[in-house]
Amino acid sequence: MYMNRIGREGVMSGSRGEIGSLDRKRINDALDKQLEKSSPSTSRGLNGKEKDRFSVPSFGGKQADLRSAGLSKNKCSDEESETDSEESDVSGSDGDDTTWISWFCNIRGNELFCEIDDEYIQDDFNLCGLSSQVPYYDYALDLILDVESSHGDTFTEEQNELVESAAEMLYGLIHARYILTSKGMAAMLEKYKNYDFGRCPRVYCCGQPCLPVGQSDISRSSTVKIYCPKCEDIYYPRSRFQGNIDGAYFGTTFPHLFLMSYPHIKPQKASQRYTPRVFGFKIHKP
Ligand SMILES: [Zn+2]
Repeated sequence: MYMNRIGREGVMSGSRGEIGSLDRKRINDALDKQLEKSSPSTSRGLNGKEKDRFSVPSFGGKQADLRSAGLSKNKCSDEESETDSEESDVSGSDGDDTTWISWFCNIRGNELFCEIDDEYIQDDFNLCGLSSQVPYYDYALDLILDVESSHGDTFTEEQNELVESAAEMLYGLIHARYILTSKGMAAMLEKYKNYDFGRCPRVYCCGQPCLPVGQSDISRSSTVKIYCPKCEDIYYPRSRFQGNIDGAYFGTTFPHLFLMSYPHIKPQKASQRYTPRVFGFKIHKP
């Protein structure tokens, strides 16, 4: 879907977009080990289930490391030109007109997220209670809103990684609230119409578009599932990139409130059922 996503930065797009899942997992595992060693208290919340979502850092230091270590995985022209413009990139994460939010939502696997209005995030009322759940809250919020932070220079590489992960978590938790508002639902409706959430894998649902749902509203309880309004059941998302996303970033209420808000898109219940047969005969049920 986002085959040639242009990331905010070359390494970012290279590592998250192009590297195979095995490579990504290996890098993430290495990062996790590093984090466990250095700061067990702050990294606690970002390990475990979330670890596969852990991002390779986008900041200058790491970029240089990756390059000097020759870890660059792809040889496409994107990467080459990125290397050419190294000097300007190392100085900071800005310099293009892509916002963090739009960059984040365009990462492969993040198709389930809609773009949250800046205004919604800037209203403290909407973020009530989140500061205690997300480490590096203020920095994460600045990152999401593309507020230039002077701490980017003083932070260590590991701290920058944590801020980046915290920003993803914070965005997810805000997202769960936002998609229950009328504006958020309208944004999700557009995505639903685009089949961004995938279709029901059940044959008799005939490709019914689905909606994302969480099995819990508490973060790190379970990964996101897709809900089919036709058979009214939930499934694992088909994309392996979506498989590690926290279900709490969508919540247990969303698809049902969504269908109540837009009753015209609610399909008729599935009536056709599959019948198992052996040599053409229905199986006797004891
Ligand atoms: Zn279905």
